[in-house]
Amino acid sequence: MNEITQNITHIKSTIPSNVTLVAVSKTKPNEAILTAYNGGQRIFGENKVQELVQKYNDLPKDIDWHLIGHLQTNKVKQIAPFVQLIHAVDSFKLLKEINKQALKNDRVIDCLLQVKIADEESKFGMSFTTVQELLEDPLFAELTGIRIVGLMGMATNTDNRDQVSHEFQSLRNFFDQLTIKHQQLKIVSMGMSGDYKLAIDAGSTMIRVGSTIFGSRVYNSL
Ligand SMILES: *Cc1c(COP(=O)(O)O)cnc(C)c1O
Repeated sequence: MNEITQNITHIKSTIPSNVTLVAVSKTKPNEAILTAYNGGQRIFGENKVQELVQKYNDLPKDIDWHLIGHLQTNKVKQIAPFVQLIHAVDSFKLLKEINKQALKNDRVIDCLLQVKIADEESKFGMSFTTVQELLEDPLFAELTGIRIVGLMGMATNTDNRDQVSHEFQSLRNFFDQLTIKHQQLKIVSMGMSGDYKLAIDAGSTMIRVGSTIFGSRVYNSL
């Protein structure tokens, strides 16, 4: 067995069966994705629209592609025909555009609302209050091309494990509170290579793991 498949098998053997593994393949070549695919992995995550579209065109059509990164409104139409889950929806404006493009493609697109749980300025995401208001907005009920199926969050990039755990727990608690009224919410997407164990302990149902599967990423300096 090759290393990529071994890594996936190892992760899957250590996580609960209700937790979905998204293999984050950003910056990685098609061959690496095919290796994971041939080992049985079907869910892959990308953070850039252009790269996602390219890989969708090149690779087997039964892959479930997740967009995990920030999405600009003007790029929604490129992924609307095929994307399975959009993780980082962070505004009503974006949701309306996803709805519009989904309807054009005769689809209903599953989305997660990104919640800001980190105490870093750079992280995208909505406040708890904004998420609650969005779900209760009468206009939201008219968006028949989208389905909000859960929440997504990213913890602060820190060695302080207590802080990371605390941030993940705050997202899970918020989710539990929301599901009383909004039973369509099923997914809590939190946890990456460095912190997915803490995320699962805090109640994650979907982890997004890149470097632990595919090795570290090398970014082109251009
Ligand atoms: C890159 C990325 C990941 C995976 O990161 P690793 O540390 O390589 O596991 C997860 N989520 C998002 C939003 C990412 O951009």
